[in-house]
Amino acid sequence: MNDELKRRVENVEKKQAVQVIDFNNVKFENPHPDVHVAKIPIANASWINTSDGVVLVDTLLRTSVSAQMREKILETGGPIKKIIYTHHHVDHVGGARVFEKDKPEIIAHQYLPDDIEKFQILKEHRARIASIQFNIPFDPNRPASGGYLPPTQTYSDSMVFTQGDKTFELYHARAETDDATWVFVPEIKAAFVGDLIISNFPNIGNPFKPDRFALPWARALEKIRDKQPQLLVAHGGRAVYQGDEVKELLDATIEAIYAIHDQVVDAINKDVPIDEMIHDIALPDHLKDSPYLQFVYSRPEFAVYNIYRRYHGYFDHNPAHLLPRPEKEVNSEVFKLIGDPQAILNRATELFDTDQPQLALQVLDILLKQDPDHIEGRRLHYRILELLCETDYCLMSRNTWVYFMEQDKTLLKEKGVEL
Ligand SMILES: [Zn+2]
Repeated sequence: MNDELKRRVENVEKKQAVQVIDFNNVKFENPHPDVHVAKIPIANASWINTSDGVVLVDTLLRTSVSAQMREKILETGGPIKKIIYTHHHVDHVGGARVFEKDKPEIIAHQYLPDDIEKFQILKEHRARIASIQFNIPFDPNRPASGGYLPPTQTYSDSMVFTQGDKTFELYHARAETDDATWVFVPEIKAAFVGDLIISNFPNIGNPFKPDRFALPWARALEKIRDKQPQLLVAHGGRAVYQGDEVKELLDATIEAIYAIHDQVVDAINKDVPIDEMIHDIALPDHLKDSPYLQFVYSRPEFAVYNIYRRYHGYFDHNPAHLLPRPEKEVNSEVFKLIGDPQAILNRATELFDTDQPQLALQVLDILLKQDPDHIEGRRLHYRILELLCETDYCLMSRNTWVYFMEQDKTLLKEKGVEL
């Protein structure tokens, strides 16, 4: 996500998860006399002082951190007149309840309440995927949207309001979510962009979540660039960009999104299967080392899957996959044909030893689907995941490998055997 997180990733033991939820560590920045930023490792919030109170953009993850932000707002200005939500993710709306006593107007895109409802109905699922993605305990009773307060006002395409000496232009975007809002304040040439920018390769792909809108996302960033902001506040990652860096950041991100998007579209039109696409599609060479596009949170393979899913149904044009029998059943047939668990284990070990961990994982899966308690199989499984982890600094994939390493560890412990 940001440099700080990257440093942390580099410092953790190779097989540990990337922990980003450091609740009580709020840092503040003051990039412009009227603009303040509050940062926690997973998200940022910001506020703008006007001649008639404060407009707050986002509220951080939970009330324990937003309470610290509220103190700082009141120290440096106040009162809090309006809150704008950039989108419905809990790390942007979850701290709102702290501001209830300020009675602010709360403004959001009109789709935000529906998106919040989606989180409520999928509460258990959301808790499960959060536990994998962020390496936190599975807690189905955790409030899906933290200390969220519903908006008092919503809009559809755009809205403009004046607060004191400043104008706030709000624009809807479909980007990381369908309810994204970015804000431009012309008097100070500042853009507040939510998670449209996270300081690294944008989150246009997530293996756990369906909503990502690559093409409208790139177009929204172009609209932001057209405003020629001199200050850009991102609500994920590093947060503050100023001067020439703003355009460099926007140029690189826009080009990256179009590059991946257009390659997926081309591959779909050529009927390339998705499992080949994820390995064939890459950023152009000149963008690969861009400091704005590191694969610290998301990665191009995840982007390819999300873009594909937006444009393509589940059917891959193989009639065997139109109405398939359960994978477990098919696997059982293959397993019986091989007839020798040791042969599968040997081949998976060979692949692992010759540095083909992903293929090793899939071959080994034939054995483990049939016999999940196979001790040697689970030991090899752990070692393969560990190897995948060692070369992976993307939070979402790395934490996934770690999650399943923990499952192997638990099973082996229950069986009373060493790793
Ligand atoms: Zn988000």
